[in-house]
Amino acid sequence: MSIPGEDTAKDREGKGEENIEGKGEGDIEGRGEEDPRNDLKMNPKDVALLLYRAMMLPDGEVFPQPDQPKYTSADYTRMACHILFCCKRCGTCCTTGDPIRLRPEDAVQLAKHLKIPLRKALKKYTVPDPKRAGVLNFKHILPCKFYDKRAEGCKIYSARPWSCRIFPFLGVYGSSRQVVVNPSCPGSVETMTALTEAMEEVRREQQGYSPSREEIRRSKERLRSALESI
Ligand code: SF4
Ligand code: SF4
Repeated sequence: MSIPGEDTAKDREGKGEENIEGKGEGDIEGRGEEDPRNDLKMNPKDVALLLYRAMMLPDGEVFPQPDQPKYTSADYTRMACHILFCCKRCGTCCTTGDPIRLRPEDAVQLAKHLKIPLRKALKKYTVPDPKRAGVLNFKHILPCKFYDKRAEGCKIYSARPWSCRIFPFLGVYGSSRQVVVNPSCPGSVETMTALTEAMEEVRREQQGYSPSREEIRRSKERLRSALESI
C-alpha cells in the first residue's frame, strides 16, 4: 500500500459506523482550536532559526545510530512548516482535490476507530489505486465522506490518514524533493511566506556564526517532534 503522501489525499470516518453520516457536533473531532498542533506554535523567526541550524549538518553526522531515521533538508523544512501552519478551516482540502491514499497502518487505525474488523473496513471504505499496485484509496471520494460541513471539521480527526495529517506539506520523507506551496490552501501560502521571510532574516543575522553540534542536534530534535505530533 502507500506512501506518506506525495499527492493530495484525504478521507474519514467517525465513531461507530452508524455515526459516520454525521450526527451532532459532539461526535466530531474537528480542527482549529482543538488541533493539538496548536500547542506547538512558535513564532516564525524561532522556527526559522531551528531550521537554519538543523540544515547545517546532515542527519548521518548527528544521529549516526542506524535505528534513527535520517531526514533531508526538505523534510526539516516540512516539519518547520507544520509548526507554523494554521488551518483556516476553509474545507477546500476535504471537499476538492485528489483521491486520498491510505497506508496499511491508516486502514488499521480506521478499523480500530470505527470498531469494525479490518477486513470490513477495507471492503467498505477502500479501493485499490488504479495506478499503483498495492496502494489503497478511500472509496468515498470528494467531498470527503468524513468532512462535517457544519462543524468545518473532520469526523475522524484522531484517526485521519497520514496523507491528511501531512497536508498541505505533502512529500515522501527521506526524499530531497522540495516543499511545494499548495495554492488552494490559504494556510499553506501564509506559512511558506512567513517561513521564507524569517529564513532570510535569520541567514543575515547568523552569518559568520557556527552553531555547535549540540545546538544543531537540539534543533533537529525539536523539528522532529513536530512531525511526531501531527
Ligand atoms: S481530514 Fe478528515 S474530512 Fe478531511 S479529507 Fe481527511 S479524513 Fe476527510
Ligand atoms: S485547504 Fe488548508 S486552510 Fe483550508 S481547511 Fe484545508 S488545510 Fe485548512
